[in-house]
Amino acid sequence: MINASKGSTRGFTRRGFLGGLATAGAALTGCGKASRPSGTLPDQQEFVIRNAYVMTMDDALGDIAGGDVHVKNGEIVAVGKSLQASGAEAIAGEGMIVLPGLVDTHWHMWNTLLRSLSGDVSERGYFAMSPGVGKLFTPDDMYQGTRLAAAEAITSGITFVHDWCHNIRGSEYADANLHALHEAGIRGRFSYGTAQGQPASEPVNLADIERLQRGWDLNSNGGLLSLGLAWRGGTSEIARQEFDTARRLGIPISAHAGIAEPGQIGSMAKAGLLGKDVQLIHATAVTPEEIRAIAAADSPVSFSPFTELRTGFGFPQTSEFLAAGIRVGLSVDTTGLSGNADMFSIMKLIQNIENARALNEFKLPARRALELGTIGGARSMGVDNLIGSLKPGKRADLIMVTTRDINMAVFSDPAHLIVEAAEPSNVDTVVVDGRILKRNRKLTAIDADQVVREASAAFDAVRKRANWP
Ligand SMILES: [Zn+2]
Repeated sequence: MINASKGSTRGFTRRGFLGGLATAGAALTGCGKASRPSGTLPDQQEFVIRNAYVMTMDDALGDIAGGDVHVKNGEIVAVGKSLQASGAEAIAGEGMIVLPGLVDTHWHMWNTLLRSLSGDVSERGYFAMSPGVGKLFTPDDMYQGTRLAAAEAITSGITFVHDWCHNIRGSEYADANLHALHEAGIRGRFSYGTAQGQPASEPVNLADIERLQRGWDLNSNGGLLSLGLAWRGGTSEIARQEFDTARRLGIPISAHAGIAEPGQIGSMAKAGLLGKDVQLIHATAVTPEEIRAIAAADSPVSFSPFTELRTGFGFPQTSEFLAAGIRVGLSVDTTGLSGNADMFSIMKLIQNIENARALNEFKLPARRALELGTIGGARSMGVDNLIGSLKPGKRADLIMVTTRDINMAVFSDPAHLIVEAAEPSNVDTVVVDGRILKRNRKLTAIDADQVVREASAAFDAVRKRANWP
C-alpha cells in the first residue's frame, strides 16, 4: 500500500484507488463506456475563442487571421470567422496565436524528479545517475516526478505526453505514475517498462501490463490515456516474448533503437520486429538501407534533439526520414539531460540542426518544424485522428500563445514566431479535451507551489537515500 500524499490525494491510497478502479474496470469492460476522469479536474466547458490568429495545422483549413474556434463537450465543433455560438462563453483571442496543443512522443516523466542531475564525468553522467538514484525510488517518488513533469508539460503548452515509464519496480509504481497523469488531466500514452537496473534476462512484468489493460476503461481517465509497452528492444528470446505479448494484447510498442552504431534497426527489420505499431526512438545511427526498412515497415520515429546532442548520440537525420515518408515526432526524453520540456526550443533546434547539416538556410522551414511538434507528433503516436490539428470533429486540445510579450513582439510571421521566438512563458491558455487547464498563465487543476514543494522534499530524500552527491 502507498500512503496518499497531502492535498488532493488525501483520503485514499493510490494503490487502493487504482486497484479498485482496475477491478471495477474489469467489470465494465465490454460496455464500451469510458470512465469519467479524476474528480479534481475542471469541467469540460463550451466556449468560443474569438478573433485570434488561428493556425489549424490542417492543410485544407490553413491559417485564419481573425479566426474563431468553438469548443463543446470536449470537441472542436467549428473553426472559422464570425462563428455562431450562442450560449458559449467568449474568450478574447486578440493578440493571441491559437494552435493545436504541442505533442511529446517520448518522455521518462518519472525522472523529472532528477532534473539537471546528470554530471560531467561518466560516474555522475545520466546513464549512471538514472539507475543509481532510480533504484531507490519509492512509488511516491514516481508520483512526484511524474506530477512535476505533467505540470511542466501543461504550463509549457504540451497537451499530449508519451510517458515512457522505465522504472516500474512493482505494480504500485505503475499505479502511482498513472495517478499523477490522472490528476493533471493531460492526454497521453502510458508505456509500461522495466525497472532501472533490471537485468536483460528478466522480462518486463507482463502480468501487470495485462492487469492494467483489463481495467483500462477506468485507468484511461475518461479516454485521455492509452496503454503501451516501453520495450527494451533487441532480438533475444525475452525481447521476443515481450514483443509478442504486446502484439497479442493489441498495445503499441516503443523502443530506443539505432543509437550507438548502425545495424540494430537492420537486425530488427530482418527479424520482423518493425511495424506501424513499433515506434523507434532516436535512430541517430542508421544507414540509408535502414531508413528504407523503417519506411517500408511504416514504423514511426521520435527524435529528442536536446538529449541526442547532450549525450553525443549524434544528429537526428530528420530530412532523410521525412524524405522517406516516415512519420516523425519530437520529444523531451528526459529533463535529467535536457533540463526542461520546452517544445518550442525543441522545434527550433530540429530546424537549426537540419539547416546546419545541409549548409542551407532553407532546408527545414519553420512551418515544417511546427508540423513535427503538432500533427507530426500525433502521427508518430498514431493519434492524428483525434488530435494534432484544429479541425471540427477532433478533440479540443489547443493552446493560446500571446504575441504581446516583449520576446514575441512584433507580430511578423506566425510560424517563425512560434518556432523561433516563443517560449513556455508565452503560453496563456491550455485546453485538453475541452478542459481549460491553464488560463491567464495560471494552472487551474494543479497547485504549482504544492507540486514544487513536495517534489523538492521527495528529491532531497531520495538523493540522500542513494547517497548521491
Ligand atoms: Zn529515452
